[in-house]
Amino acid sequence: MTYTNNIEAFEASKHVLVGGVNSPVRSFRSVGGTPYVVARGEGAYVYDIEGNAYIDYVQSYGPCVLGHAHPAVVAAICDAAARGTSYGAPTIGELRLAEEVVRRIPGLEMLRMTSSGTEAAMSAIRLARGATGRSKIVKFDGNYHGHVDSLLVAAGSGVANQGLTGMAGVPDGVVADTVVLPYNRVPILADDVAVVAVEPVAANMGLVAPVDGFLEGLRAECDRVGALLLFDEVITGFRLHHGGATAWSGVTPDVWAFGKVIGGGLPVGAFGASREVMSHLAPLGPVYQGGTLSGNPLAVAAGLATLSQLTPDAYAQLSATAEKLAFGITAAFEGSSIPVQVPRVGPLLGLFFANSPVLDNDGATASAESGRFPPLFHALLKRGVALAPGPYEVMFPSLAHGEAEIDRTIAAFRDAVQELTP
Ligand SMILES: *Cc1c(COP(=O)(O)O)cnc(C)c1O
Repeated sequence: MTYTNNIEAFEASKHVLVGGVNSPVRSFRSVGGTPYVVARGEGAYVYDIEGNAYIDYVQSYGPCVLGHAHPAVVAAICDAAARGTSYGAPTIGELRLAEEVVRRIPGLEMLRMTSSGTEAAMSAIRLARGATGRSKIVKFDGNYHGHVDSLLVAAGSGVANQGLTGMAGVPDGVVADTVVLPYNRVPILADDVAVVAVEPVAANMGLVAPVDGFLEGLRAECDRVGALLLFDEVITGFRLHHGGATAWSGVTPDVWAFGKVIGGGLPVGAFGASREVMSHLAPLGPVYQGGTLSGNPLAVAAGLATLSQLTPDAYAQLSATAEKLAFGITAAFEGSSIPVQVPRVGPLLGLFFANSPVLDNDGATASAESGRFPPLFHALLKRGVALAPGPYEVMFPSLAHGEAEIDRTIAAFRDAVQELTP
């Protein structure tokens, strides 16, 4: 059967895919209604199977930083596919991508590629535990590091959007060594901590920038007790800055996790560290990690094609786009009864319903619980602007978002605010 109606197609999906989706955030559960079913994407736009166009701020939750179906990325994927899709042997493509990532990130010396950000974070934790011989891990409330058991506590967007509290299927024992602390406060660490995992700019509880001294304080505290510092740069990696949050902040962690942008829209993740720390990893050391499709030729080709467009100028353009959006969105709410904060860190952009800047997950949760996001989301969607369907997500403008899209987005916000505050 041919599907040309969103509701019909989504109803059919619900029979064979749990909740109609392959990742819970896509289900519209936290905004209500039926998801648009995508037929194709091009540049700043996605088109659903009914032919509706949306200016897309989801961009696959971050990977498609050039916009959808960028010709250079499509060509790189087609070219790679014509030479075979996976070999189970080393390739030049994975070498080039690793060289490019290592070249960009100060302090990073070696990489291991995976097929997702979850695997990257999971493996980085295993490596850190193996390298230190300790088991405790520290993470921050509202930071997301993928859906691996030991990190799936107080884990930000995907989890928070579903209204889930306890973690069915995650035994207490698995999280017994995970300590969850509030973001933006430097903890006093115990000397049995293996690793402190942090999103250097938090982008899974809305957008929360690190306050002055937070990352520097974590660095110093990790050094004091001999713990490793892990920057989860799966979002910040090559969206925030040419050299990731590492160059942006000037703070160098011991271990990194990457994903999203480095796969250019195909399944990729990577984790890395200094040569010394990475020497604990098999085949050099005793910490095992592997993957049939890791360093997949299509994915590394898409990643490399994406990174090669991401010059310092490209980041200046992304930041300018985000700045115009932040200014216009803030102005759209001015004089209305809706209190908003539009935090921006370079190209990253968030939206909170709050009277003052949000610094941690308690603030993000209060914003989400105001209930203001779902009606705004739908008012924008019917005007052809697609935000990610949850109050804990950030906006991902791409290099394909030009003046016309920015102007239309701001106009849609103005009209939406009018509609919601008559
Ligand atoms: C998306 C994300 C992950 C998980 O990556 P997947 O590719 O979805 O497994 C991990 N950490 C952060 C910060 C993320 O935003």
